[in-house]
Amino acid sequence: MTTKVTGIVINKQSYDDDSEIITVFTKELGKLAFFAPGVWKITSKNQYAVQWLATSAFEIFLSYQANKLSKLKTGNLLITRIKLTQNYYDYLLGTLLCEITEQAVEERSADLKLYDLLATALDNLVAWEDNLSVVIVFMLQVLKWYGLQWNLTMCKRCGGKHNIKTISFIEEGYICKNCYLPTGLGRIKNIGVLEKNSEIE
Ligand SMILES: [Zn+2]
Repeated sequence: MTTKVTGIVINKQSYDDDSEIITVFTKELGKLAFFAPGVWKITSKNQYAVQWLATSAFEIFLSYQANKLSKLKTGNLLITRIKLTQNYYDYLLGTLLCEITEQAVEERSADLKLYDLLATALDNLVAWEDNLSVVIVFMLQVLKWYGLQWNLTMCKRCGGKHNIKTISFIEEGYICKNCYLPTGLGRIKNIGVLEKNSEIE
């Protein structure tokens, strides 16, 4: 009995001389690792499907025991993103997206939203010139999976939607021009609060 899934190759580790252990983020089962025997052989029909960052259709012998790895039967490449492996900077950003995704979810729990988020980010990384923006947008959206919810529709302090000045990592959102205090002023204000507190004591 085999199981058919579609997924993105997010991690590869060599195993023996010609085999690999592949981790894919699938639509159907979420994160899934499997043994891919012989994929380094020139004659292997599965070598393209297991390309890093590719979207492929896989037929898998799924393991239901925790100590046994699933095994690849066949793989068909659907979308290649090999372009991202040819430039070191793209390679680093691709690695970052994959690592963040891998750590955001447990094995075998489907998450279509995260799947779409990763697929879109990788496609944009291939197509866009401003790669850093792609990664930043991805990271802000993926914070939800890490239990942080950023509201990027208005100023965190006054709710205003205009004259957005900066992002506050402490307040997890935008700060507008009116609410923004230059660092120096903010510091003076904080010292004032400290002095008041020490008077109470
Ligand atoms: Zn404001």
